[in-house]
Amino acid sequence: MQSFMFNMVLSELEDACGRDNVSISTADKLSYGVDYFWIGRKWADAGRPLPTADFIVRPGSPEAVSKVLKIANYYKIPVQTWGGGSGSQGAALPMAGGILLDTKRMNKLIAVDEMSRTITAETGMIFQTLEWYAGERGYSIQHIPSCLTCGTVGGALAHRGIGIMSTKYGKIDDQCLSLEVVLPNGDIINTLPVPKHAAGPDLMQMFIGSEGTLGVITKATFKLFELPETRKFYSFLFKTFGDGILAGRDILQKMKPSILRLYDEAETVSIIKKIVGVEKHGSFMNLALEGNAEIVAIEEKMLREIIARYDAFDTGEEYGEKWYKNRVTFFYPGHIMDIPQMFGTMDTVATYDRVEPIYYAMKHAIEDNFEGVRFIAHCSHWYEWGTMIYDRFIMDHPPEDPDEAVRLHNEIWNAGVRAALENGGVINDHHGVGLKLSRLMKEQYGPAMQVFEALKKGLDPNGIMNPYKLGL
Ligand SMILES: Cc1cc2nc3c(=O)[nH]c(=O)nc-3n(C[C@H](O)[C@H](O)[C@H](O)COP(=O)(O)OP(=O)(O)OC[C@H]3O[C@@H](n4cnc5c(N)ncnc54)[C@H](O)[C@@H]3O)c2cc1C
Repeated sequence: MQSFMFNMVLSELEDACGRDNVSISTADKLSYGVDYFWIGRKWADAGRPLPTADFIVRPGSPEAVSKVLKIANYYKIPVQTWGGGSGSQGAALPMAGGILLDTKRMNKLIAVDEMSRTITAETGMIFQTLEWYAGERGYSIQHIPSCLTCGTVGGALAHRGIGIMSTKYGKIDDQCLSLEVVLPNGDIINTLPVPKHAAGPDLMQMFIGSEGTLGVITKATFKLFELPETRKFYSFLFKTFGDGILAGRDILQKMKPSILRLYDEAETVSIIKKIVGVEKHGSFMNLALEGNAEIVAIEEKMLREIIARYDAFDTGEEYGEKWYKNRVTFFYPGHIMDIPQMFGTMDTVATYDRVEPIYYAMKHAIEDNFEGVRFIAHCSHWYEWGTMIYDRFIMDHPPEDPDEAVRLHNEIWNAGVRAALENGGVINDHHGVGLKLSRLMKEQYGPAMQVFEALKKGLDPNGIMNPYKLGL
């Protein structure tokens, strides 16, 4: 039976969001108890009790979000923001119970400014919908992650997401111009209208990547890019992963391909088999160059000069184009790892001088210490100064007992991420920290962590927003 107090809070939340937009049903609670975090999915698969919220609210406006946060602060109830629930780090899970705030009713297109080439929308919108709005007018936001159809605009901002076109068009934090945020105390604030200024530290960037710990992002404005006049695909096979990394570095010094992916020797075999059905060995690189046709022709010439220096074999346009056509099917059932397999993606980012040492340190830390675990990697987001290693561990036959499996899962993650940190890497490039890596934030930042802690304490003194995440 529900307590007197529970019903008092329930009626306040119904008053804030509308009675139809508040749920305490068991079915709803269970469906918000699993995201894409392996432990949560293993827990659900084993029939173990899931983390559940007490109230699920679906506010339809920033004003309603503000009311919910004021209620939560008054009663000191935890609040968990939930977008699409597609995150892999357990960041959306309601670990402390309380209120689960689903943003998806806030899904309106607000404005398209063709003069300034910007688009503004509410953040509960699924990113694909926003991309369709841009596409109808002949533009693209060029944030094209594999989760385009299942993640929200707010989710991508909250963990600093990245799409396959990032090498040319940037990460979400490069593409975003301004935000509206509801602070934990219920105040609705706006960052400055443009991202480049000297009016103090960058307010907008404090919220991008904050994973729902500093407030709820309710509105965002993005750049619009003209659709490219031409897009050309290329692919090459290098003798070693190391050669491919150096070639990638040289390419980034001269041009910005939209797609640039380089697979290690272990993943090359499986990716080429998936796209063209044959077995090839080496280190596979696929690229796309795009934009104005004359500029692409010049870039192609420079690309070929660089590739020639590394004696790579040209596997042609077909492999690159087939990779692009399959870019999302790689994640479909049957192509992607799934329970009962144990797996994780430890996307690590580093400067070029550290990339190979980190890759081998992580590979040894995992394959030498955990029997039956294999390690594969590719580099898929490139910068002038370094790249991201999208490294995965996979165990086909993990312990069936969920307690044992979770212990082993966390030991593997500790070993892999610590090997990256010891060699100059950064915890994560774009999947975020969430619950999964919360414990490692202090190891990454050391005394610098106090800056985040002070920000959290100042904005959220009652600690209501997304407890146990991001090391806060
Ligand atoms: C098949 C698949 C492919 C993927 N591919 C990619 C990829 O290519 N690139 C990539 O970056 N990620 C990828 N991901 C990871 C994930 O989908 C992304 O992290 C996605 O952007 C999360 O969005 P979401 O709306 O589902 O967020 P959720 O999982 O609901 O939440 C994630 C975090 O964001 C917070 N949050 C959500 N909305 C808000 C808001 N409005 N204000 C404040 N905080 C908020 C939550 O509290 C939580 O901390 C993939 C996942 C899957 C399952």
